[in-house]
Amino acid sequence: MNKLIEKYDRPGPRYTSFPALPFWKNDLDEAQWVEHIRESLLIEPAIDLYIHIPFCQKLCWYCGCNRIITKDQKRSNEYIQALKNEWSFYLHHFPGIEIKSIHFGGGTPTFLPAEQLNELLSIFSNHIDPKFIGSIEIDPRTVDRDQLIVLKSFGFKRASLGIQDFEEEVQIAINRIQSYSLVEGVVKMLKETGFESINFDLIFGLPKQTVKSINDTIEKVSNLDPDLLAFYSYAHLPERIANQKLINEEFLPIGKDKRELYEKGKAALFKAGYFEVGMDHFAKSESYLYKAFDNKKLHRSFMGYTDTKSSTLIGLGATSISNTRTSFRQNEKDVKSYVAQMSQIALPVNQTSHVLSSSDQVTNDIIQSLMCNLQADITLLREVEMWSFIENGLSEFEKDKLLRIDDDMLYITEIGRIFLRNICMVLDPYLGKKGALRFSQTV
Ligand code: SF4
Repeated sequence: MNKLIEKYDRPGPRYTSFPALPFWKNDLDEAQWVEHIRESLLIEPAIDLYIHIPFCQKLCWYCGCNRIITKDQKRSNEYIQALKNEWSFYLHHFPGIEIKSIHFGGGTPTFLPAEQLNELLSIFSNHIDPKFIGSIEIDPRTVDRDQLIVLKSFGFKRASLGIQDFEEEVQIAINRIQSYSLVEGVVKMLKETGFESINFDLIFGLPKQTVKSINDTIEKVSNLDPDLLAFYSYAHLPERIANQKLINEEFLPIGKDKRELYEKGKAALFKAGYFEVGMDHFAKSESYLYKAFDNKKLHRSFMGYTDTKSSTLIGLGATSISNTRTSFRQNEKDVKSYVAQMSQIALPVNQTSHVLSSSDQVTNDIIQSLMCNLQADITLLREVEMWSFIENGLSEFEKDKLLRIDDDMLYITEIGRIFLRNICMVLDPYLGKKGALRFSQTV
């Protein structure tokens, strides 16, 4: 295994989109975007909605998200108005639009007090599909029962808690202190309020983490019994993410030490009754995510893995990404500029965008299928321009027993799961020679 890791570990995209965002061509104007949505709604009339709340009360030093650190609760007033104006733009064009799901992400969505959550969610009330699914990312340090009651009253049943690590030394080293009893209280509150699915986000590769601290964390996680877990690798990129310079590099586990944290952590998760689904995610067998994975019906969006996905995703708020099957579009990233632009009913400035060519669509479908269900029909891939180059690349992975090709189907093997990003990179014509250097390590 170590030889394979040495051979394949290199920077590469995580493929939440294909092409990866740095390769988007910025070729979509406002009128075209509206047309892309119109066509997408003809295929499937209900949309997924993402709402980005960019405020956090305290900075976590490892954070790579787009957020503003503030304790000033008033900051959210004008932002809520901006979100309302952005939504009005879509309603103006698509008055009968239906919403199949809402995902609140951040930042910290629970930065908004209960009254503001209520005010914001009310604007969507007349557009909710009967099979609606609501999910929210929660910072356990910033949530109360009133917020959960409001969310539940609008049909929210899925919560994701940022945990990272329960070890106090690690929490101090990343400036995110949250005790086990605090998290235990939040889990209890979620269950009492009627939330049906709870995910914990954990990170390995943080400063001061050891195999013992990972095992202790997973034992505590197991006591709290979330049905889902994400176990992400920490990507230390201080040259691009300034706040990561606050992390003492001397305490960072790297190379084999970091890999061991993942391997031991994964073994502990299996022992605790979790199954691996897709990439970096684990689920109990009774969870909706495991069932979707088991039935080869897992999907992936910018928000992570899910059991259902519409053809249209509309992202509201600064930095939010929207997509249809044929296009991607990211909103203005700067929160101040976003709020200023949205003082009237309008579409915020398009920071980056991309119209998918027909070969982009083929590659995107195959990459998403591999990332979700570890298999893909590659019939159409044989028709793309670079097929002979791709075939050569895949045969190298086949020799290393990381994948298997049977007729038109490509299957990822059990050890191949670790190298999923590398396998997808072979299909990616945008990477070129230096294109991958801007990304985090693949393994
Ligand atoms: S709470 Fe989340 S988004 Fe906010 S600073 Fe911490 S890691 Fe970043």
